[in-house]
This record gives sequence, C-alpha cells and structure tokens, in this order.
Amino acid sequence: MAALKTPKDLTSFVKESLEGRKFIVAIQREAYLHMKTAQGIVVEKAAGGAHSLLDGILQATGGVMVALGSGDADQEVVDSKNRIKVPPEHPKYTLKRVFIKKKELEGFYYGFANQTLWPLCHAVFVKPMFHNSWWQDYVAVNQKFADAIVEELDGDEGFVWVNDYHLALLPTMLRRMKPKLKIGVFWHIPWPTYEIYRICPWRKDIVAGLLGADFIGFHRGYHVDNFVECTRRDLEVMVDSEPRSITYKDHVTKVANVPAGIDYTEIMEEMGNKQPTKKLIEEDFNFTYDLLGIGVDRVDYTKGIPERLKIIERFFDKYPEFIGKFTYLMIGAPSRVHIPAYKAINHEIDDLVERINWKYGKGTWLPIQYVNKIVPREKIFLYYHLADVCMVTSLDDGMNLVAKEYAICNKSDKGMLLLSKFTGAAKDMKSAMLINPYDIEGSAIALYHALTLDSKEKEKRNNDLKTVLAKNNIYQWGIQFVQDTMTESGQQ
Ligand code: UDP
Repeated sequence: MAALKTPKDLTSFVKESLEGRKFIVAIQREAYLHMKTAQGIVVEKAAGGAHSLLDGILQATGGVMVALGSGDADQEVVDSKNRIKVPPEHPKYTLKRVFIKKKELEGFYYGFANQTLWPLCHAVFVKPMFHNSWWQDYVAVNQKFADAIVEELDGDEGFVWVNDYHLALLPTMLRRMKPKLKIGVFWHIPWPTYEIYRICPWRKDIVAGLLGADFIGFHRGYHVDNFVECTRRDLEVMVDSEPRSITYKDHVTKVANVPAGIDYTEIMEEMGNKQPTKKLIEEDFNFTYDLLGIGVDRVDYTKGIPERLKIIERFFDKYPEFIGKFTYLMIGAPSRVHIPAYKAINHEIDDLVERINWKYGKGTWLPIQYVNKIVPREKIFLYYHLADVCMVTSLDDGMNLVAKEYAICNKSDKGMLLLSKFTGAAKDMKSAMLINPYDIEGSAIALYHALTLDSKEKEKRNNDLKTVLAKNNIYQWGIQFVQDTMTESGQQ
C-alpha cells in the first residue's frame, strides 16, 4: 500500500508544483479573528477542516489568505492594505481582510449565500429565496474579493484556491482581470439537478462565474454530473470526457469529484492514550447513563434533527426496555440564527425535545439531553469515545465530518455509526449502518440493531471504517486538488 500522505508531503507538493506562483486562498471566513476583551485585543483561531488545512499549507508555503474581516478589533490591527501577518506568535503568511458593510453582509452572507444558494443546493424542501438586492450584494462582495486578490498579485502569475459557495463569481471576475492565473474552486456543498437549479433567476451568471476556473472539485460524482448538465442546458458549452471538462468561451474548466478526507493522524494524536470514563459526562453535563447515543451538529435544517428525534421517539415506543437505559446526548451548535428558517428549526427541535422528555422521562432520567451551544472539538472527541452509537441523519450533505470523526474516535468493539445514505460520506463508509432518515420506522429498528450488535461485528465494521479514513486523508485530498488545478486538460 502506498504510504499515507502527510502535511509535509502536501506542502512540498504545493511548493514544487506551483512553479513560483504566489499562493492565494479566497475563503469567506478568516482563520484568525482579532477580538476586543477587557484584557485588551486577543486573537481567536477559527476551527474546521478547510481552515486548518489551508492555514497549514499557507504557513508552510507563505502566501495570502483573503477573507472577510469579522472580528470586532480586526480593523484596528491591519495595515493600509488591510493586511496582517499571521499566526500572531510566529508570522508565516499574510491575512488580507475584506471589510464589508453590515448591509452587504446581510445580502451577501445571510441572504444570497445562505437563503438562496444553500437551500437551492441541498435537496431538503426548504424553498430558496430570490431577492435582487441580495444578488447585487453577492456580486459586489465577490468583486471586492477579486480586487483584493489582484492588489496582492505582483504580476499575472498566481494560484488561487477558491473555497466554497460564497464565491461562485470570483473565478470569472479574476480571469478577466488576470487571464493567466491558475484558479481552482472547491464546492463543498451538493450541486442540484437542473430541474431544481433552473428556478434560480441568476443561474447562468453563477455557472458562468464558476467556469472562469481551471478546475472545479466536488465531493461526489453525481454533483459533478448535475453541474455539467446545468452548464449544458443553459450555456453554449462543449463537454468532454476523460478528463471531464467544459469549454466555455474558449476557456477549458476541468471538473471532477475529489471527496475531501479528514486528518486521521491529527485526530488519533489528539485522542492519544486518553481513556475517558462515564464520569466525564457526569461532570460536564450532570447526568448518568447506561447506554449513550450522541449527535453533534450545527443546528441546520439539512441535518435531519427533527427526523432523528422522531426516530428516537419511535425507538422507545418499540423497545420500551431501553427506557431509563439509553440516553441521547444531542450537541447542537447555534448557527445562522438571524435567518427565519433557522429560527423555525430551532423551535421545532425545542418542541420535540420537550415532547419526548415529557413522554418518557422517569424521575431524574431524561431520554434526550440537549446541549444547545458550541462545544470544543477536543471534548467532542472524548464524548465520541464513550458513545455506543452516533446518529448522523442529514437529509442531504456534501460530506459530513462528524460521521468520520466518530468512526475514528469510537471504541471499536463498542461504538456504531448510524449514517444517512444522503451524506457524501456514506459512499466511502459502507461499513456503518446506513439509514434513510425519512424512514422513521426502519431507522428506529436500525438504532436497535446498532445498540445490540455483537461486539466482534462492531469491531470489524469500525476497523474497516478506520482503514478507509486513514488512507483517503485530507493531505491526499489537498494534493489531488492542486494537481487537478495545475494540470492542463489533456495532459495527465
Ligand atoms: N463541531 C464542534 N463543536 C460543536 C459542533 C460541531 O467542534 O459544538 C465540529 C464537529 O466536530 C465537526 C464540524 O464542527 O468537525 C462540523 O462539520 P460537518 O461536516 O459535520 O458539518 P458542517 O457544519 O460543516 O455542515
């Protein structure tokens, strides 16, 4: 078996293959925020897979991260070109902040990105909203990113890694200003079928905006198929196979599925020899249990949280012997709470938790323990280790990190992952127990099986999952993405 890729492999690959080009990352959320506190200005580091990976590459190669300034002291610490060297303790690269007005943030982020594109791309039956003023803000903010990037380029040469659905127009804006740039986009969320996509009034501008890139990566093959179909139906394009590419206005864009991996080694190191016990849950959340289920999500309507609660309710109906025995710890990090659809999902979840706890609660025991706050990732890893089952019930998801983290951190002969078929992760994680979260009855039965499965069978399934996750790690993914962006179509 080929050796597993490491951070060193990725950074040396990036350095070599960029052929002296300046490395620039365009991402909505910045990796370091400056915040005002009573003790003065402090720096907070953003968490999350893409952030740690891109921060890691930039620290090794130098370059620039262009991102929205969102800390309340961000403006006070930057130079005249809105730049600051990071990480603060040993500066390695430049963070260039794009500052936008509150009104633009509402239209660009809370509006077009998260109430138009997010529901449009996830097949979860939440209607996308289309407002011309949001679109105008989306265009304006993408242009601000393009201007900021061009300001940082010395000549025409550079490599720009565009991260996600907030910046769909950036590739073509950049291509017009700097034709020789190498531009790669990673689209982390699903891409819908044309029959859904066609309702968007700006659908042509969005695909045309993306087609300024040399490469667009998606997590799954059907996202690529859907994207290609949308370009074919709406624009005059020529589509080639092997490698899959789209020619539009004489520019060739390769497209492929490059499913993102996870930093298996970092998670294993973080776990180390830690042997958390039930006492940890008692100390942190003030309850005791016999069997523990866990769920970890941003509270988002794509995550199937109401469906999950109904599955647990049905499980207690069908298998009353688990009443008083099985406790479900549901960590729900608040997210995008200004948006009406998010307010609604929060209410729905609160009502369901109250209903189930009222129905089955006995003395001090409650079936659902709901923790509605952000919990540090290192802590979550320890809870995974203790949990007999983890439920990932997304109704549609690009990838899903929680599923992968749980499979790595669980105790192999004890834990079992119940995973929605509709996650990108499900394709590589066939040894999990795959469910359709809309099928409440079938999923309740699967939960019963997950809790009662023989420990040898659990160990085998979990070891299979760990092997897959170790191999397709995040460094392998980064290398593939840069390689696909740098290689001309037709030359492999
Ligand atoms: N997470 C966290 N604290 C929380 C909730 C979530 O650190 O309170 C982390 C979780 O461990 C995972 C990430 O946030 O690494 C969520 O990623 P995922 O792909 O599952 O969902 P997304 O939020 O990106 O849609």
